[in-house]
Order: sequence, then C-alpha cells, then structure tokens
Amino acid sequence: MVDWSGGNDRGLRPKKDAIWACVARAGRAEEPQYLRNRQVAEDWLAKLIAAERAAGRRVLAGFDFPFGYPQGFAGALTGKANPFALWDWFEARIKDAPDTNNRFDLAAEINLMFGGKGPFWANGLQNRDIEGLGRTKTDYANPFPERRAAEKLAKGAFTCWQMAGAGAVGSQVFMGLPVLARLRRRFGVRVWPFEPLSGDVAFVEIWPSLTLGAGPEGRIKDAWQVEEVARTVSSLSPEKLQVMLTVEAPEEGWIFGLGHEDALRHAAAQPPLLSNNCFALPPGVDWTPVAEALAHLKAGLSPVAEVTDLPVAAAVGHVAARDVVAQRSNPPLPNTAVDGYGFAGGRGEGVHVLPVAQMRAAAGDAPQVLPDGHAMRVLTGAALPDGVDTVVLQEDVTLNAGQIAFRGPVKQGANARAAGEDAVAGTVVLDKGVRIGAPEIALLSATGVTDVPVHRPLRVAVVSTGAELVPAGQAARDGQIFDANRPMLLEMIRRFGHVPVDMGIAPDDRTALAQTLSDAAGKAQVILTSGGASAGDEDHVSALLKDAGRMTLWRIAVKPGRPLALGIWKGAPVFGLPGNPVAAMVCALIFARPALAQLAGETWPEPQAFMVPAAFSKNKKPGRSEFLRARLRNGAAEVFASEGSGRISGLSWADGLVELPHEAAQIVPGDPVRYLPFGSFGL
Ligand code: AMP
Ligand code: MG
Repeated sequence: MVDWSGGNDRGLRPKKDAIWACVARAGRAEEPQYLRNRQVAEDWLAKLIAAERAAGRRVLAGFDFPFGYPQGFAGALTGKANPFALWDWFEARIKDAPDTNNRFDLAAEINLMFGGKGPFWANGLQNRDIEGLGRTKTDYANPFPERRAAEKLAKGAFTCWQMAGAGAVGSQVFMGLPVLARLRRRFGVRVWPFEPLSGDVAFVEIWPSLTLGAGPEGRIKDAWQVEEVARTVSSLSPEKLQVMLTVEAPEEGWIFGLGHEDALRHAAAQPPLLSNNCFALPPGVDWTPVAEALAHLKAGLSPVAEVTDLPVAAAVGHVAARDVVAQRSNPPLPNTAVDGYGFAGGRGEGVHVLPVAQMRAAAGDAPQVLPDGHAMRVLTGAALPDGVDTVVLQEDVTLNAGQIAFRGPVKQGANARAAGEDAVAGTVVLDKGVRIGAPEIALLSATGVTDVPVHRPLRVAVVSTGAELVPAGQAARDGQIFDANRPMLLEMIRRFGHVPVDMGIAPDDRTALAQTLSDAAGKAQVILTSGGASAGDEDHVSALLKDAGRMTLWRIAVKPGRPLALGIWKGAPVFGLPGNPVAAMVCALIFARPALAQLAGETWPEPQAFMVPAAFSKNKKPGRSEFLRARLRNGAAEVFASEGSGRISGLSWADGLVELPHEAAQIVPGDPVRYLPFGSFGL
C-alpha cells in the first residue's frame, strides 16, 4: 500500500509528506518504507513487482489517489472516455525530476483548453503566478462535475481538481498516473475497477482515511496508515476481497472498501494470522528441555481468536482483547461504611456533643447539605452529604434530646470511603489478556463499563487417531480399545474456557486423516490430535504434517512424553499429542494449555505450584523433567504406584502432578518437591 505525494522532498531525513509504502503478507506488515521521491518510488515498486512475480506470488498494490476523473473529463481531453487514454496523456506530458516538475503549468494548460477558469484551481507555487490557474476559487468555473460518484459517498474526500493546499489530492493524480501508466505497461498490471483482475499484479485505488484516523502519537500518520491498510487488506479472505472488488465504475474509478467500511474496521481489529514458522526450534537441538520448549511456544504464538465488542453482562467468560478503562469511579462519591452519625472533621480526646439535624442519608439518596456544627443520621452505603466527612458508629453514640454524645478521639475521615478509593474513572481496571470471571465482571459492572472488547472463544478441534480405537459405549472386538483421549481432551478444553469441537476418530489411513484435519481446520482454529505423533510406520499425523512442509517434531526431554508433533494444517496450528492417555494428558496440561490460552488472547498462564514434602522415595535420572501422578495426603505428596503411561486409573487417583526437574535427584520422604494441583491448571 502506497501513500503517494505530489511534491518534492530534497531533505535528508524522513519527511512526513513524502511517499510511504508498506508491504504486508497474510495479515503481517513489514516496516513501512520511506520513499524520498517518485523516482525512488517507481524504482522500488518495479523491483518489488519483479521479485514477487519471480517468487510466484501475486501483488495487490494500492495507491491513495484517484485513478480517474469525474465523468466526461477523459473524453473531453483525449477524445476517448477511457481512463487509460488519460493515463497515457499525462504520462506524455508530465516532466518530473527530483527537484522540479511541471504539474501546475500543465493544469493551467488544461484549463486554457476549457476557457481558462477551471476545472483545476490552486496554484501552489509561492513565487510564480500562472495564467489559467488561480490561487483561490474566485472566478472559478468547472465545466465538469465537481466530484466522482465515489467521492459523493466518501465523507471528507477532496476533489481531484484542487492542486494545492492541505489535504489536496490534485497534484498526486498528475504525478502518480504517469508512474502507474509506465508500470502498467511494463508488467501488464491489471487496474481496478477498469479491468478484470485476472493477472498476478493489480493496482487499486485506496483512501486510508476512509476508515482510519491519524494513528498513535509519535508515529507519522502516512506511515501508520499505509501499514494499517496493508495489514488489513492482506488479512481479508479471498471471498471478502472478491465482494469488495465487485464494483461498476468504468470511467471514474472507485475507492477500495467504499461501502464496506464496517467490514474493513472489523478486519483491522482482528489478530494477525500465525506465521508458518511459529513452531520452529533452533537447529541441532536434540532433546529440548521443558522450559525451553515452553519459551519457544510463548514466543511463536499470538492470539488468533477474533475480536468483538460485547455488552458487559455478556462478557463474562471471555478474554479482554484490550485494556478496559473505568467509565465511573468506585465509589463514585464518598460514602459511609457503617450505620451511624456523620459530621465534619475529626475530634480529639474527651466527650463531644453535637446537635442532630432532622435529616437522614440512606444508600441511594442524592447528597444533601448538612448545616455547620451539626451531625446527622447516615446509613451504610449512603453518599456523604455536603458537610460530612467523618462518621461515628451508632453503637458508640448516645442520643438524647436531639443531641448525640460520643467519646473521642475520632479521626477525620473515620468510617467513610473516599470517592475513587477502589477505582478511578479513566484508569485501566482490567488488563488485556485477562479472562473475565466473577471478580472481573463485578469490577467492570461497578465501574460503569458498558461494552467490553473481547476475544471470541477459541474453537479447538479434537481428533483421536488409531485403527484400534472404538468410541466409548459401542461394541469392541478383540484387538480394539475404547477411545479414552478424546472425551478427556474435550473436557479439558471446556475447562480451559475454549469451545471443544469433536472430530471423532480417524483411522490409520493418510487420506482419511488428511480429510479429518481439513474438516477440523474449517470448524476450529486449533487442532489437538492424539496418537500417531512419532516416527513409526503408523504415525500418520507426523507424516502428514511433514508432507505439508509445516512440521517440527519436538523431542522434549520430558517423561511421560514421546515426541510432540507441532505443525500447521490449512492455517490451523496442530498439536500432535502422544497416544498414551497419561502422556496425552500431561502434554496437554504442560504444553497445549498455555499455548491454547495465548492463542485465545490470554496472557501466558503459569500453573500455581507449591513446595510440599515428598511422601515417597525415588531415584531420578538426569536429562529430562518428570511429571508424576500425585496427590496431597496429610500435607505430603504421594505418588501413584506405577509410572506406566497407559495407566489411566492413576490419573483419576491423582489430584495433581509432582514435577521433578531436569537434573538427577535422590528423593527420600520429607524432601521438598514441586506439587501442581490439577486445579491450578483450571481442571
Ligand atoms: P500411538 O501414539 O498412536 O503410538 O499410541 C500409543 C498408545 O496409546 C497405543 O497403545 C495406543 O493404543 C494408545 N492410544 C492411542 N490413542 C488412544 C486413545 N484415544 N485412547 C486410548 N488409548 C489410545
Ligand atoms: Mg497409533
């Protein structure tokens, strides 16, 4: 995406109104490029197009100036109502060098062809008047329509007749069309919406301000805008793009996205797609330690769950997609924390007597004004009346003949809550990445938040693989076993806060498994498989992912474990878990759980661990971490009698895991060990 410029930049440093361009692929933008002048820009564009074409990729290039003029102009000027006749006409006449160009003279020349009062206006040259091109709109007459059909819909768009002044676009058209004309000829570019986009390079007209503001403070607006447009357009699905590109505007051209502003804004708010190498491990590593594997997952994965605004009541259970700011302070006004009597100021030692005003403040009452030197009845939660900042408990007071008496000292502000002591309007009350539970929904409600930007729930597909598997509840013949992993993983996903998608059992058959994975990628954003993940003859998950060219086999130094096959299938990350149920559950808890959380938009969760005395002995070998099925009894961690990876009974026996670190260890009863209750994983 390119933000064009009609002027000249001879300075040294990046200037805000030079040309800015940004390349994005699949929703990820590169660093915006500063292109000093049009010669540099044309060269850069030509190289980019050639390189992309050589790499077999297609290019959609956007430019922020009109590709055509209002109806009638092309025909009147060139004899053909064809925008390309106009492009060539300009190309033959514009002289452009880094330090000078003839755009104002050419505009004047055109005006003189049509009587000398228009269509163009605004000579931007400081030191030279030009016959036929006024500096202002006095004595201006335009024989053509002021605006194109598109500009009538695009609020705030400038006409292409204005050649100078802040925001004017006339000069950019003059200085842009010749460059586009040359590139079009040289590369056979298809230009939207004048031609069908059947080639591999297309030009479209964009107008970033259609949906974008000036961007964050400290960033050059044009640079930020091209980056945003590039990122957003490159993230659109082919179907959405097709809809937006379907336009009839054969002479004047059209602005990309006009009429689809909401869809563009929605797309801009969505998280980027994952990069294909998100699971890449450094080469040469043989057995990756658990901590390192987790660090790689954390660094490689970013949220994929869509973003939407929900009313506060519906937001519970969702993950905040941005920091949420209090709309109202809590408490909104100072109020009393107890039932008692309120008055102004603290009191020293001794007995104090105050007349009681015939007033009462209860919770919900609008604050009144208490006369000086008086006390009044106040009830818990009541906003403090004007003239009250201190409250004594009713139990500490005697009431007699319209007066109260109490014993000091009483501090100023006693038993009162200050406005905003809990949360102040305008400050962040909920950080992005937090899943909104009961405490958070209370906080958002109290602080007057009406709508919350949240991630939609992450959809996670579960596939069991193995020719031996039969769904639980059906008849099994000899040689078959019941599928235990799928119901287990579906329930874990639900507990983690995601939406489980049951994809059933895939047999040990590559075609069928490929079909199941493709179906899963259509229905969910992440896929968990179990079984078939290592490198044996019947390990089809890893074989398929490897064929797709997007797999890393993570050999993690962990027991129970075997390799984890991590890859991308049709854009969806796939976690190939081991088939043994114990290993499948441990790997899902340790590796898949935090990864899924991050994909869902949550901050990376660390399970809450406790150091507790061991109630067991173990001689642990060095070189890998071990997770033992464990439970707390009498303050000490017991472990399951067998470490067999197929012993599902041990999972049910346990309440958590004991994690033994990488190093060798000689554990005897009483030694401190790290205990991770299942609850701290959200189970
Ligand atoms: P695999 O990783 O496919 O070699 O499987 C390892 C072991 O786990 C084999 O004994 C499988 O039968 C068993 N297994 C695989 N998938 C499941 C499942 N969904 N439920 C129960 N056991 C399984
Ligand atoms: Mg298998």
